[in-house]
Amino acid sequence: MTNDQTFKLTLLQAGHTTAPEAMILRGESWRKMTIPALFALLEHPRLGPILFDTGYSPRFLAETRRWPYWLYAKMTPVFIRAEETAAAQLQRRGIRPADIERVIVSHFHVDHIGGLADFPRAQFIFYADAFQPKTGLAAVKAGFLPGHLPADFAGRAAPVDPAQAIGLPPETAPFARGVDLLGDGSLLAVRLPGHAVGQMGLFLQAEGLGPVFLCADACWHSRAFRELIFPHPLLNHLLHPDPAAYHQSIRRIHQLHQRRPELHIIPSHCPEAAQQYCQ
Ligand SMILES: [Zn+2]
Repeated sequence: MTNDQTFKLTLLQAGHTTAPEAMILRGESWRKMTIPALFALLEHPRLGPILFDTGYSPRFLAETRRWPYWLYAKMTPVFIRAEETAAAQLQRRGIRPADIERVIVSHFHVDHIGGLADFPRAQFIFYADAFQPKTGLAAVKAGFLPGHLPADFAGRAAPVDPAQAIGLPPETAPFARGVDLLGDGSLLAVRLPGHAVGQMGLFLQAEGLGPVFLCADACWHSRAFRELIFPHPLLNHLLHPDPAAYHQSIRRIHQLHQRRPELHIIPSHCPEAAQQYCQ
């Protein structure tokens, strides 16, 4: 990759939740751990600032006041203040909401789509099958809250057909195929099934870091892919549409990590990653 395809990567956090460690990493204690909701600002040399996910927003607190969505808040305590949203943090860095022309959505869980409605000019890029709008209890079960989407979402959606996938360079193995999202080879999207239908991960080069793989929620903690530790089976089976594929995705990231220890693999909710990469 040339310099023309290298991003300035800024990893940020918009809110957090908590969960027992043993649910996230089987065999650990039942002590509560803090689970940050990370998102990434990717500054492309020609195309400007692009977001990968947006974290939580206070919309969660508003939307879960009523049945059946309050069930979601009962299961997942969310901590987010107005000044912690993606838009507020970008403003403080001199990037206005209208400057964001692209938001890449790894999947449609609320801790990734919280801020979509705060970016009035953005196109939303995601794997076409990842968007399965639901309401009521079905939405809660899918980790989706319909009120999080902007009213003009359909008009700004730019779904990616997974069939556009091309052969990837050997560095990304065992991920053999992916979509060149921007057409210049700078962002290579791959499929990370199991956690959510159509989940997307991204390979890129970052200034000062080198190769990076943003693996979204393919695992919650970096220890999962380093040490091949799976979550508690109850969580895997209750939460995931395809528990077997979830394990398989972690195994593939584990292989990737073993082959390329220099690659920065960043899960969206890993407290270690937050400490290491967030500015
Ligand atoms: Zn998720």
